[in-house]
Amino acid sequence: MMEPFLSRLRPRKEQGTYALSLVYGKTVYHYLISQDKAGKFCIPEGTKFDTLWQLVEYLKLKADGLIYRLKEACPNSSASAEAAAPTLPAHPSTFTQPQRRVDTLNSDGYTPEPARVASPDKQRPMPMDTSVYESPYSDPEELKDKKLFLKRENLLVADIELGCGNFGSVRQGVYRMRKKQIDVAIKVLKHSTEKADKDEMMREAQIMHQLDNPYIVRLIGVCQAEALMLVMEMASGGPLHKFLVGKKEEIPVSNVAELLHQVAMGMKYLEEKNFVHRDLAARNVLLVNRHYAKISDFGLSKALGADDSYYTARSAGKWPLKWYAPECINFRKFSSRSDVWSYGVTMWEAFSYGQKPYKKMKGPEVLDFIKQGKRMECPPECPPEMYSLMSDCWTYKWEDRPDFQTVEQRMRNYYYSLASRAEGSPQCGQVAEVACG
Ligand code: ADP
Ligand code: MG
Repeated sequence: MMEPFLSRLRPRKEQGTYALSLVYGKTVYHYLISQDKAGKFCIPEGTKFDTLWQLVEYLKLKADGLIYRLKEACPNSSASAEAAAPTLPAHPSTFTQPQRRVDTLNSDGYTPEPARVASPDKQRPMPMDTSVYESPYSDPEELKDKKLFLKRENLLVADIELGCGNFGSVRQGVYRMRKKQIDVAIKVLKHSTEKADKDEMMREAQIMHQLDNPYIVRLIGVCQAEALMLVMEMASGGPLHKFLVGKKEEIPVSNVAELLHQVAMGMKYLEEKNFVHRDLAARNVLLVNRHYAKISDFGLSKALGADDSYYTARSAGKWPLKWYAPECINFRKFSSRSDVWSYGVTMWEAFSYGQKPYKKMKGPEVLDFIKQGKRMECPPECPPEMYSLMSDCWTYKWEDRPDFQTVEQRMRNYYYSLASRAEGSPQCGQVAEVACG
């Protein structure tokens, strides 16, 4: 019995479609990979992904409609190369209908194994295997009940505190839906008679309500009962900076780049939707697990007007100055480009494994430091490519700073280059580390 393998991945004439060829037994199966309007890739009826690489990685773990999960790439085909050269002459007429799962015995009496994890390295959960990759409302049955305000009887608030802030505390809980119960994090507004506090929390809810992306903490809804409660999907791994402290030996740089790439994908989505976050920092990146990060805390976020590229704050407030671009502090102007500056500081926090930026300097001193053209140094473990990107995020003039589309692409290229280096090496999964300097 021949092992099935990925024969090739190649672009087709129709814009945005790719062919995936798979040999199983003596038969070659061709699958069409298409891209939807939002740019996501999938095989027919399969799970959708932001990039081809993610789709291929997923199909190595799960058949997801293929006759078998992908095993080995044949020489000359590269799963990560999005424009791999054809290795065999092909004609569209050779495309067969994609098959769904095969449950019956084949003619040779062989039943394909169910998709399973191939090697210990592949045992790590991928974002798409978790329950928080897609919205709980992506099920049309559940969508029928989607409303901003949730019924208190469907919400269980446990006496477990996940975190706290000025507003009150974040508690663990369970929300009952039509077909399932989901773990949730509940931001509970401390007893306050101030209408302003309630309004502020409702503004945060209104922003989150408009967002739906795998790399952003989703709002499930709001519940007004014993207190005003903001019910969110759960990211139980806690904030990124706390997770990384003291883990230089345990968490390789490739893992840090993986998480930062996910943050870049979430921020690219926000940029496309014309939202500014205004509080991007490692403390507001929460982990679902070691390989899956989500952006959270939309307390300062704003939706920009259709024709606006920035938001001007009426007055300065309690601001995270060390994460703010010069134009935020000087002119109270906030844009996706100022979020890019904060992303650079978040990168620095992550590659320094949870250190505090600008050491003991105070916020206003940081602005002087920046004005003098100085920038934080490259953290010891940080690869030069990543320091170069964070330095570009700290371009003084916002017009000259890269946008998230560029940042995401550079993060992706770097992270994938590590992944493909690891695939090419005999010890698959061991990603080569490159240190600065
Ligand atoms: P603040 O506006 O006070 O910074 P955050 O939204 O950042 O509030 O939440 C504070 C803390 O609560 C976080 O650092 C985290 O520990 C916890 N928390 C918040 N949201 C979630 C969530 N969705 N899942 C798990 N923990 C969360
Ligand atoms: Mg926060």
